[in-house]
Amino acid sequence: MGTSGTRSARERLVVIGGDAAGMSAASQARRLKGPDELEIVAFERGHFTSYSACGIPYWVGGDVGDRDLLIARTPKEHRARDIDLRLRTEVTELDLDRGRVRARDVDSGAESWTSYDKLVIATGARPIRPELPGMDAPGVHGVQTLDDGQALLDTLARTRGRRAVVVGAGYIGVEMAEAMINRGYEVTVVNRGEEPMSTLDPDMGRLVHEAMEGMGITMVNGAEVTKLSTGDDGRVRAVATADAEFPADVVVLGIGVRPETALARAAGLPLGEHGGLLTDRSMRVRGHENVWAGGDCVEVLDLVSGQQRHIPLGTHANKHGQIIGANVGGGYATFPGVVGTAVSKVCDLEIARTGLREKDARRVGLRFEAVTIESTSRAGYYPSASPMTVKMLAELRTGRLLGLQIVGREGAGKRVDIAAVALTAGMTVDQMTVLDLGYAPPFSPVWDPVLVAARKAATRIRGAG
Ligand SMILES: Cc1cc2nc3c(=O)[nH]c(=O)nc-3n(C[C@H](O)[C@H](O)[C@H](O)COP(=O)(O)OP(=O)(O)OC[C@H]3O[C@@H](n4cnc5c(N)ncnc54)[C@H](O)[C@@H]3O)c2cc1C
Repeated sequence: MGTSGTRSARERLVVIGGDAAGMSAASQARRLKGPDELEIVAFERGHFTSYSACGIPYWVGGDVGDRDLLIARTPKEHRARDIDLRLRTEVTELDLDRGRVRARDVDSGAESWTSYDKLVIATGARPIRPELPGMDAPGVHGVQTLDDGQALLDTLARTRGRRAVVVGAGYIGVEMAEAMINRGYEVTVVNRGEEPMSTLDPDMGRLVHEAMEGMGITMVNGAEVTKLSTGDDGRVRAVATADAEFPADVVVLGIGVRPETALARAAGLPLGEHGGLLTDRSMRVRGHENVWAGGDCVEVLDLVSGQQRHIPLGTHANKHGQIIGANVGGGYATFPGVVGTAVSKVCDLEIARTGLREKDARRVGLRFEAVTIESTSRAGYYPSASPMTVKMLAELRTGRLLGLQIVGREGAGKRVDIAAVALTAGMTVDQMTVLDLGYAPPFSPVWDPVLVAARKAATRIRGAG
């Protein structure tokens, strides 16, 4: 086993994970400190760096024509900025006492230790893949990485049948349902939850369910997959639940992810109840002066509930990386936490949420009013005004906004950002009713749907108080 452990006058930063959080951290640190002051070594076990997994559904669905468009910065570009990037190299052990990591070349199996002065853990998340018969059969695909996306596209190119089953109806599941529709497949979505999009309350999830059925997608809710049947050729043929079997020429998994923290756990680093690394506000791992962590492998503070949560989203991973890079590079930056904002779509249906659902609020002992309103994306008389449903939660007595969910057509989803800002600012729904939002008939009714919901919530709170 080789070593690259000799310390020189300059510091060495070692980064584990070459995507959003890891390479943002490396790039930001490099912006602040040149190669004379800081050596940066980044390990990535895959073939790609700085890629957008978020774009995979649109690449598979054909909206994005070329895989390379999803790559924000190539290995060559990183190396040109004096980042010693080691692709196809997996870190297999952290030795915190001696300040070094053990890495293995995935292709040759060769191992070596690399010492560090500062360490960034950005290992992301691991897709959940239940141990069921047939799960590894050809024709069954995850969509976590670009390699996964390519493998799925290769399967689609070879497959003559046109029946796809998507397992899971979170945002990745619904986005992949759209991708498969766009590829001309007959799509069935098998979902364990009561309704799709469990990040919404069930009454709002119901709207997604109905809209997806209206798009010709067969929705099977409240159903746990028990096995994947295969044909004589070993390829997947059907997805079975306790009550039924759904024929499948291809199966796409979107069941969710868990923090990839096996290395951190083995090294004794602090993990939270969701299995993610625990950091302070500078993204430094709690109790470890020279170790930072960010992205899908960490837990974050939910500013609305005050609880730690695991919210694996690229929007957070990129910010974490920037903040880590700033701190490692000698600056000062902090990550305050999140309010839980997310937006996605299935065909022309936009789905958005921020803050707490009813069950989240109850779990932390908050009492609230929940209101739901119907409105439109533009002035009612303006051509192509489309309907949307907005649900808002506000705390009893204080009137503080607690959460917002939107299901609608074009122009609905990004309205959630109004509520994300209001939540961050700790606004009451009463204060929101007079927010100075832009208005003209092509963009919204004179009372924006979010303000209509705020007015209704404020009236309820006053009535209840
Ligand atoms: C299909 C899909 C759609 C998505 N859509 C959205 C969206 O619309 N909006 C949004 O905000 N987020 C979205 N996300 C989530 C987003 O992609 C992730 O939150 C983001 O990629 C997390 O970045 P990360 O750097 O923390 O982890 P990852 O992107 O998972 O990167 C971690 C990297 O570390 C490497 N690695 C892990 N362990 C080791 C090791 N031991 N040694 C070496 N390398 C290692 C992995 O190979 C990987 O490349 C989507 C994800 C998927 C899969």
